[in-house]
Amino acid sequence: MSDRLANKIALITGAARGIGEATARLFRREEATVVVTDIRDEAGMRVVAELGARAEYLHLDVRSEADWQRAADHLTAKYGGVDIVVNNAGITGFLETAGPHDPEHCDLASWDEVHRVNLTGVMLGCRYAIALMRTRGGGSIVNISSRSGIVGIPGAAAYASSKAAVRNHTKSVALYCAEKGYAIRCNSIHPAAIMTPMWDAMLGEGAAREKAMREIAAGIPMGKMGDPLDVAYGALYLASDESKYVTGTELHIDGGILAGAGAVTEK
Ligand code: NDP
Repeated sequence: MSDRLANKIALITGAARGIGEATARLFRREEATVVVTDIRDEAGMRVVAELGARAEYLHLDVRSEADWQRAADHLTAKYGGVDIVVNNAGITGFLETAGPHDPEHCDLASWDEVHRVNLTGVMLGCRYAIALMRTRGGGSIVNISSRSGIVGIPGAAAYASSKAAVRNHTKSVALYCAEKGYAIRCNSIHPAAIMTPMWDAMLGEGAAREKAMREIAAGIPMGKMGDPLDVAYGALYLASDESKYVTGTELHIDGGILAGAGAVTEK
């Protein structure tokens, strides 16, 4: 255990499982006080029980302004604000909405729902974070976008659009805070192919799963999927004062996927 986040208060959305959970566990190990939030209350409370003192669970549906306001009131009363917000909650829409998700046939309700969680959720998270961080004298916002926020995804147009908007909104927030002279930084992380329950649910079982895993691995320069902790370590750097001169930037955590063009050419 070290103390890279000593004396920091951190709120993480979608932290009952996957990347958010790994981030909450790592931040606690680094001495932050951690506020785990999610819509999966039971799982979130289990995580907090394992984290012990200086961790608590709050129900926070990132789509809901009322939930953000309630969380903000709580953080203000208990801690005088917040130092770190990781806007991590996100959905692909494949399981949560009816779809389809390709640009020719996409269903409007599904499109709206993916944007409500992935984009409006992050916009609200940034807005409340700015207010809460100003009362603490500054802070760091980490937005979890995706490699899909940088390249197009024909079968997941809403997801890709929402994540691209998160990437861009991050830069608006970063510049706004810098212009205002707030000591608030805002950066985005762009993971790809991280083995979490989000993937688990899409991979199927048995031989089909093996085949899908082989195909995914073949598309990753480093030849394998990443772990949630790989992303959590990136968030740790951006959340800590070690990155005090870093704002509006984007960190790819993707086994090298975004380093090159997928298509194989002769020259
Ligand atoms: P998971 O689905 O494993 O975890 C996300 C958590 O967020 C779940 O507990 C989920 O609950 C919760 N959640 C969903 N909707 C809301 C909401 N409206 N308010 C609050 N919480 C909500 O996802 P990952 O850990 O894989 O992904 C985390 C982030 O990383 C996402 O933004 C994702 O887009 C991004 N990402 C992930 C990649 C990967 O390869 N895993 C790659 C690129 C980006 P429930 O399960 O009930 O929906």
